[in-house]
Amino acid sequence: MRLTAFALALCGTALPALAEEVNIYSHRQPELIQPLLDAFTAETGITVNVAFVDKGMAERLVAEGDRSPADLVLTVDIARLMEVVNAGVTQPVDSAVLDANIPAEFRDPADQWFGLTARARIVYASKERVAAGDVTTYEDLADPKWKGRICVRSGTNDYNVALTAAVLAHHDAAFTKTWLEGVKANLARKPEGGDRDQVKAIWSGQCDIAVGNTYYMGQMLADPEQAEWANSVSIVFPTFENGGTHMNISGVAMTKSAPNKDAALKLMEWLSSDEAQHIYAETNHEFPVKPGVERSDLVKSWGEFTPDSLGLADVAKLRPEALKLIEEVNFDG
Ligand code: FE
Repeated sequence: MRLTAFALALCGTALPALAEEVNIYSHRQPELIQPLLDAFTAETGITVNVAFVDKGMAERLVAEGDRSPADLVLTVDIARLMEVVNAGVTQPVDSAVLDANIPAEFRDPADQWFGLTARARIVYASKERVAAGDVTTYEDLADPKWKGRICVRSGTNDYNVALTAAVLAHHDAAFTKTWLEGVKANLARKPEGGDRDQVKAIWSGQCDIAVGNTYYMGQMLADPEQAEWANSVSIVFPTFENGGTHMNISGVAMTKSAPNKDAALKLMEWLSSDEAQHIYAETNHEFPVKPGVERSDLVKSWGEFTPDSLGLADVAKLRPEALKLIEEVNFDG
């Protein structure tokens, strides 16, 4: 790009404006974001280049410093967004469009990160062995009535750290530690695998309930082998005793060194628009963050629920303390 700009500069002025572009470092799967980026390019003429960065996003941006080609970081989970923000490689974005489209609890009060989709961390319950109304709260997962009946992935996984941080936000450290010990005592097996593996374990009879993210239901139903697992469970939206259902996000941040700041802002704003939010909802069965944008039919079929009203920024602050408690109780051991 820089070479092209240089070459054009040498050629004089009677040339069309340079094509705009945006460079993304993405932790999200290519299949998921490509339809969005194609629609954006078709509408605006702005080219979007994506580099998929699986691990070490923050380290890479720190190492590249001012020379980084990246304008935007797209990732899942508040933990990974906070990681790049805390590494000092992002910049605040002041946008009336983003503020209007994204509810306050899903964006950083300091404007460093913005949620684009939301997911709920819910309970998958065996259709055969768990009656409707048996699971109502997260606190209840520590009740001895679930002894030997719960499956969950590693306690130190980002999704579970965020859930534990939310327990902390609603209660205190002593309560949260007791809760973690209670849930651990109820596990049917030591934590292993991802969220879908827990649903598989319900299907195979190893456990009766599992904790997982909502969109995995959509992913399992689309997979010939996993659809059977998905059909063995129902989705229950637990709440905190004094709150709603725990939500997390996928989101975006602008890098400090963004070489294409204007085009990057256009893309950020577009990703929060009705059109983009609709594509997100249909492609990955996540919840649009923009109020008024419809959920996919599948997501609607899970029913209504009350999202927790705690701001994710407040939950994120408690992650380090939550992780410490998870390690203290040796949750995975
Ligand atoms: Fe996931």
